[in-house]
Amino acid sequence: QTPSKLFLVDKKEVTGMIPRRSRFAHKGTFGHALLIAGSYGKMGASVLASKACLRAGTGLLTSHVPRMGYSIIQTAVPEAMTSVDPHDSIFTEFPDLSPFTAVGIGPGIGVKSNTRKALHELLEKVQVPIVFDADALNILSENKEWLKQLPENSILTPHPGEFRRLAGESVNTWERIQQQRQMARELKVIIVLKGAFTTIAMPDGKLFFNATGNPGMATAGSGDTLTGIILGLLAQSLPPQHAAVVGVFLHGLAGDLAARKKSINALIASDITEFLGEAFLEME
Ligand code: AMP
Ligand code: MG
Repeated sequence: QTPSKLFLVDKKEVTGMIPRRSRFAHKGTFGHALLIAGSYGKMGASVLASKACLRAGTGLLTSHVPRMGYSIIQTAVPEAMTSVDPHDSIFTEFPDLSPFTAVGIGPGIGVKSNTRKALHELLEKVQVPIVFDADALNILSENKEWLKQLPENSILTPHPGEFRRLAGESVNTWERIQQQRQMARELKVIIVLKGAFTTIAMPDGKLFFNATGNPGMATAGSGDTLTGIILGLLAQSLPPQHAAVVGVFLHGLAGDLAARKKSINALIASDITEFLGEAFLEME
């Protein structure tokens, strides 16, 4: 509530949070991300989030996909290893979690009952930082009692529609922000409420406003790239609160740099990932 708990995400501070690589680094130094995304007709979500995750600097990425998604992901993202679900078209069973340093789940997974069940099992088993997006949030909205089982410092990245399903209607933007802060406090999680000015609510009541980004980013798959970026940062062991702030800032900055070359009108989600490298360069 107090003004001192409101912050603008600041370029200099973000710069200080970005991992710097030792000359002697090897890929094992930067973690191993598990991404659970995609289903029949929505494999693009997996491809977009996977590429963004790799560009964010994860050492290794395993993309878990339904059987029909196997050749798609191996062809579109050769850098990713693949974990194949027993089901042909949806997510129903996650792999052994022991190799992974972070997990991301949600883009394009749908809300079928086997997928819900698998998500609930994951909630009970996962021991590493985790980011929930898209259909993972929709599943949680339909099973609100599961929210209490979210591991502390989990990151949730709803857009306004997903947030409304999670938290209920709000009369105006400020009331919605208060709902966001209260939910982050109660559940001890980090809530990234996406929009023109994304707000990030921390479990301790702090609220960050992000100013990077542009309306060109209001385009299919844009949020999937954010999930990938945050997952990639979590995997290389950024503390979850830093991963959320850095991820949102860089995603917006990459979108701004992309818009300069591609225009706001023509911008597509892959452009954000393509310009992530230039965003990192701006932060040196
Ligand atoms: P999603 O709706 O899940 O695809 O997420 C959309 C992404 O694009 C979020 O990261 C939003 O913050 C971003 N975005 C959408 N519209 C705008 C806008 N007008 N200005 C800046 N960022 C935006
Ligand atoms: Mg989305």
